Amino acid sequence: MIELRNLSKTFSTPSGELHAVSGVDLTVEDGEVFGIIGFSGAGKSTLVRCINLLERPTEGSVIVNGRDLVALPPRQLREARKKIGMIFQQFNLLQQRTVAANVRYPLDIAGVSRSEADARVAELLELVGLSEKARSYPAQLSGGQQQRVAIARALASDPDIILCDEATSALDPEATRSVLDLLKELNARLGVTVVVITHEMKVVELICDRVAVMAQGRVCEVGAVQDVFLHPKSETARRLVSPAE
Ligand code: ATP
Ligand code: MG
Repeated sequence: MIELRNLSKTFSTPSGELHAVSGVDLTVEDGEVFGIIGFSGAGKSTLVRCINLLERPTEGSVIVNGRDLVALPPRQLREARKKIGMIFQQFNLLQQRTVAANVRYPLDIAGVSRSEADARVAELLELVGLSEKARSYPAQLSGGQQQRVAIARALASDPDIILCDEATSALDPEATRSVLDLLKELNARLGVTVVVITHEMKVVELICDRVAVMAQGRVCEVGAVQDVFLHPKSETARRLVSPAE
């Protein structure tokens, strides 16, 4: 479970303090696919980067599986962060390394033995349907395939949670579908909790159980996807779900 309590992140900028996230309280249950939507600049990426402490919150707690990450000493934080995978819009793969080497990378860092890593990489590539691309380089793959490699890499440390920041925004509809199907399958089969930031309402409708709506650093609405889409309460949710009006 992820519990954000009174979470705030303020950036110091030349023009003063910028409140990217302000006093957010939010709970994501184990095994949920949870969406975060909002207009550009609403604070979605900052909020999600606070969940794995890629950004250190200015205030508040990030409680993952009962432990406040903000209060953990560095070594325990490193361990806790291994249980939180993240994927990005631009995949962030190592271009000079093969697909297999990309997936293997976190295992090497963790000091996993060679034979164990070989077996794990084969298993992960099988899981994301890319066994035959093990020796290819990222540039030789389609966008959807590259994102599936990134997912396999994120899964290498056996995470409980996967954070996705616009993970399908660079993909065409078909590749988007294949990545969403994979995330859904990981959620159903492995019980991984998935947090999805997206500007595509379709993505939320296809895979999310619940959704939070953000505006100006705050969560203005949270609910089951159907409820928020059919009966949006906040002005932001209304504009997001029916942009034509
Ligand atoms: P988008 O949909 O465009 O990705 P977002 O909802 O993810 O937007 P954030 O990237 O979280 O928004 O940004 C929220 C606010 O915080 C913005 O005003 C942004 O300019 C500001 N911000 C984000 N990161 C930094 C930073 N490192 N330094 C200063 N300001 C930042
Ligand atoms: Mg963003």
